[in-house]
Amino acid sequence: MTAALGELRSRFSGVRQGEVASYIPELRRADPDAFGLALVSMDGHPYSVGEARTPFTVQSVSKPFVYALALAELGLDEVSAWVNAEPSGEAFNAISLERGTGRPANAMVNAGALVASSLVPDTPEHPRFDRILAFLSRFAGRPLDVDEAVYRSESVTGDRNRALAYLIRSAGRLPVDPVTATQTYFRQCAVRVNAVDLAVMAATLAHGGENPVTGDRVVSEEVAAQVLAVMATCGMYDASGEWLLRVGLPAKSGVSGGLIAAGPARFGLASYSPPLDAAGTSVRGRAAFAALSQRLGLHLMLNPALPGSTVTLVTTGEDPLPGGGPVAGETGKVAVVAAQGALDFTAAERVLHGLDEAASGGAPSVVLDLARVDGIEPVAYAMLRQGLARLERAGHHVALADPAGRLAAPPGGGRPRDGGPPRFATRAEAAARCAREGGR
Ligand code: GLN
Repeated sequence: MTAALGELRSRFSGVRQGEVASYIPELRRADPDAFGLALVSMDGHPYSVGEARTPFTVQSVSKPFVYALALAELGLDEVSAWVNAEPSGEAFNAISLERGTGRPANAMVNAGALVASSLVPDTPEHPRFDRILAFLSRFAGRPLDVDEAVYRSESVTGDRNRALAYLIRSAGRLPVDPVTATQTYFRQCAVRVNAVDLAVMAATLAHGGENPVTGDRVVSEEVAAQVLAVMATCGMYDASGEWLLRVGLPAKSGVSGGLIAAGPARFGLASYSPPLDAAGTSVRGRAAFAALSQRLGLHLMLNPALPGSTVTLVTTGEDPLPGGGPVAGETGKVAVVAAQGALDFTAAERVLHGLDEAASGGAPSVVLDLARVDGIEPVAYAMLRQGLARLERAGHHVALADPAGRLAAPPGGGRPRDGGPPRFATRAEAAARCAREGGR
């Protein structure tokens, strides 16, 4: 991974296009040659090259995370009443407000981000900005701070954002006064990070809201998915469609040169390189992400079906029973299906298909061997329980080899409606029981 990142860095570090943002005067001081790349895996392994530890202000890359905080505090329905989730097709600082209502288009453009950060609760013990900083820090897995010089610099020049805030307030769509709203928003944008921090933050979203480095559950899986969805459609402003088409990953850019992308259940990726294109995206970051996506096949819609390795054995009972035990070698009595790995919807469908095939041979008994299954999703649990119940209703004797109790109770809590088929520690025991009792 480090070599792949290093290769990208050398390939694109010579690119000279783009301009360092200057409308926030302090950002002009950034080194246009700085170029860092970082990737964090779902096991929390960090890989980085170049200026990946160089501090810079997070700017708009804060937006998805503050949106996550608003969602975690208020829920999707309440947040959506204040800020929509439609791509604006406009620049980050455009007056992207819904005709008639004045509701901002989405939380990735400034108008929506001003509203999202204003939705964060504010109490004397836990002031709004303290909550935001603490929350961003949990995403990054270390305490972050504010670059006061950048904050002041944006504060004295940020009239356009102030104008936006007043406009939204006048439409009755800003929950706090415009001065407070812009102060909080400017401070949030001035939080200092580096590319590794951003990769951990992106990886936390990709990892279903749990920071893969610290193990901290920052937001629910549901909120993480909601944020990634809005990043995918709106994260790159008026370049979002083209980005999803070519790179195929939820992403967010920032004017200081930071860029993140998340591969759901795969990785968090970040880069730092200050020169920007017309859409406010880091030029080298964009090139590197596109190349990496292509080279590693990371495009979300490019999801090749891997050869089925879930079902390792299907016997119909015609074949002699494999393995040891008292009924080994017997035929005609017990059909067997064995599965392995982690069972999700796709894998459960394979197992159900295997059970059908096994039962079609006419054997009175069916054994499902889950000894080598090492995880099961709630949907797979429900599918298998229903499939096995159907086999029983059709008159088959069913037994499980399920030493870990995968089908004993719904994963993640909840009580089973009934005990389900009898469970045994091994396939041989389950088959022996079936052979004894299942001979209709
Ligand atoms: N603080 C910046 C602004 O509001 C953030 C914009 C960005 O990063 N795209 O102008």
